[in-house]
Amino acid sequence: TTILAIESSCDETSAAICKDGKILSNIIATQAVHEKYGGVVPELASRAHQQNIIPVVQEAIAGAKVNKKDIDAVAFTRGPGLLGSLLVGTSFAKGFALAKGIPLVEVNHMQAHVLAHFIDDPKPRFPFLCLTVSGGHTQIVLVRDYFDMEVVGETNDDAAGEAFDKTAKILGLPYPGGPLIDKYAREGNPHAFAFPEPQIAGLDFSFSGLKTSILYFVRDRVREDAEFLEKNMNDICASVQYRIITILLNKLKKAARQFGIRDVSIAGGVSANSGLRSMLQDAADKNGWNVFIPAFQYCTDNAGMIAIAGYYKFLQKDFAGQDIAPLARMNF
Ligand code: ATP
Ligand code: MG
Ligand code: FE
Repeated sequence: TTILAIESSCDETSAAICKDGKILSNIIATQAVHEKYGGVVPELASRAHQQNIIPVVQEAIAGAKVNKKDIDAVAFTRGPGLLGSLLVGTSFAKGFALAKGIPLVEVNHMQAHVLAHFIDDPKPRFPFLCLTVSGGHTQIVLVRDYFDMEVVGETNDDAAGEAFDKTAKILGLPYPGGPLIDKYAREGNPHAFAFPEPQIAGLDFSFSGLKTSILYFVRDRVREDAEFLEKNMNDICASVQYRIITILLNKLKKAARQFGIRDVSIAGGVSANSGLRSMLQDAADKNGWNVFIPAFQYCTDNAGMIAIAGYYKFLQKDFAGQDIAPLARMNF
């Protein structure tokens, strides 16, 4: 079974080919236009998807060395995401499926982030927990089966990726700030500055208080020393990153205890963070968990994860009609 998959929910245009559950190609075009605006501009994202989608799909097909006529189905991200961006991928997928007379498979982007764990070995066994941390979401997901997932904890305000990106903005770093904070943090002391851990009941998260405390911290220190940021960038990044990670891992530990689960995983763009990856491994060693971390290319937005999700839906013959519409908001 050969699947062509399309991802266009935010600011990466991506296409992938999956054959019998193996990813043969995963092409990702990241849109640079948003950098100077400090965040994704929806109108510009839609236009860039429109420009990128054909070359990206062609590259995915060529890279996988498959013939167009051997494609059995087209999977696409239906939501959640930016509606104008989703429309480009959805329309392309519909047109391709109609022209070839093959089925369409709709995929939920947040389920696909979790199902990225089924691309490479070793694969987690059901039921497992997945901490999905991305630019728009922070969720602890109890995964009972491929498409039987329950969000058991989520953020009350900002997402973890947003906490990274907003901190970067306060520090004068360009968008997206997560990878840059990760880079500076590697050279810094995570205990140089103490940022507060919010007290939130249950398995939910909150990052807005942290953002405010960073804002005031930077404002006060810069007032005393105009060069404070330049001199302490590595330590500030390491300290902020340390706090974001401990907020995430403390809730994950709580969830693992509550549900009695030892197979624990992370997914989404923030799971590319080197500090999170290593601190999760430490927590696993201490708690006797089996941890699962996707390869870098399957952490941030990519069509490979849409392809694997589409493949499992294809096996269940769970097809979408040509009248399907994308959804900006979408639950499991
Ligand atoms: P969603 O999946 O919620 O719709 P999204 O698709 O924009 O949002 P992803 O592409 O999965 O999110 O993740 C992007 C986020 O990941 C950004 O906030 C970015 O800063 C963050 N990120 C990427 N790499 C790293 C890293 N190494 N360290 C920290 N954060 C990172
Ligand atoms: Mg993105
Ligand atoms: Fe995403």
